[in-house]
Amino acid sequence: MKLARRLQAIKPSATLALNARAKALAASGKDVVVLAAGEPDFDTPEFVKQAAIEALRTGFTKYTATAGTPELREAICRKLEKDNGLKYAPEQVVVTAGGKQSLYNCFQALLDEGDEVIVFAPYWVSYPDMVHLAGGTPVIVPTREEDGYAPDPAAIQKALTPRTRALVLNSPANPTGAVYSRATLEAIADAVRGHDCLLVTDDMYEKLLYTGQPFLNIGNVAPDLLPRLLVSNGLSKSHAMTGWRLGYAAGPRALISGMQLVQDQSTSNASSITQKAALAALTGPTDTITSMVNEYRERRDLFVAGLNAIPGIRCRLPEGAFYAMADVRALLGKTYKGRPLADSLQLSEALLNDFLVAAVPGDPFGAPGYIRMSFVTSREVLQKGLTRLRDFVAALG
Ligand code: PMP
Ligand code: GLU
Repeated sequence: MKLARRLQAIKPSATLALNARAKALAASGKDVVVLAAGEPDFDTPEFVKQAAIEALRTGFTKYTATAGTPELREAICRKLEKDNGLKYAPEQVVVTAGGKQSLYNCFQALLDEGDEVIVFAPYWVSYPDMVHLAGGTPVIVPTREEDGYAPDPAAIQKALTPRTRALVLNSPANPTGAVYSRATLEAIADAVRGHDCLLVTDDMYEKLLYTGQPFLNIGNVAPDLLPRLLVSNGLSKSHAMTGWRLGYAAGPRALISGMQLVQDQSTSNASSITQKAALAALTGPTDTITSMVNEYRERRDLFVAGLNAIPGIRCRLPEGAFYAMADVRALLGKTYKGRPLADSLQLSEALLNDFLVAAVPGDPFGAPGYIRMSFVTSREVLQKGLTRLRDFVAALG
């Protein structure tokens, strides 16, 4: 069957595809070490589950307003003010089915055919494809590990054209775990100030910071840019709620109305039950987040040290999120079962097939020569992954 032309540029989500494959292998009885998707192994906090149970019990199971219940939109405004120092009115907030839908709706509402969106590489796999789905053109600006993945302001300025409609910022970042400093955010703000484009900040990993420094949004360091800032966030990572599908965006009224329109004619409201759970999550205690982050920090230290102890693997210590991005370039060109490993795709394939470790190749993140492993799994599983990685490297000729 002939499908729409715009799908020709779209690839399946590499993270979700590998995760599904690893889980299917596990279901077939294989002892797979799944370091694929960024999905916390913790359970959703009990008080959040209770709010959903209460929603079911009281029959809160009908459509809500497309943009979310008034109480949840207000709670999001309070969260944005309290945690992020950003002031929004409830009409400037839209509740979505996951952080993914916020970003998707934004690009659908914003872009015309051929409009450009600047994305820094390495990037989360879905940004370029979401831009393509909206008819836009992603403009990839590389960043360097040596610079802590901070973008070069001169490279941003070079990438800006009259067709640039938006620039995506993601700090803490997926897949690198890099966190932008105040100076980096100021430099980005200076680079875009003279150009009328939207700043989309994907703050999904806001709570997952290991530096001891508070989280910073570019709106905090450059308040003059607030009128063209879209903040996207969600509860998937902070509250271990990936399956509930709850995200939100806050920004300029016209854009939020446009995003609401897209949602009105596609999915309507995020689940009513999930919205009640989200209200509890955003207004309830935060100690579960603190204990999750403390545990992730320990796992990060253990896992990254273990990776760096394997000859041929090198891994920068991520300051946030929950991914280890390991440089495996020293292993490429070596032979495995008599055949040279050409790239990180082949390396990941061999690792999964023969050593039962699911790690995402860097290529779909715009980071060839790297593999991404999430460390949101138990220390035992991480240790097992390290042992298998070591065996794999030892098997290379
Ligand atoms: N942004 C980033 C950077 C992500 O890694 C993800 C994946 N969870 C999302 C947004 C979307 O999250 P979700 O749709 O699961 O809320
Ligand atoms: N964002 C997570 C990841 O990068 C979950 C999967 C996805 O939505 O991409 O693994």
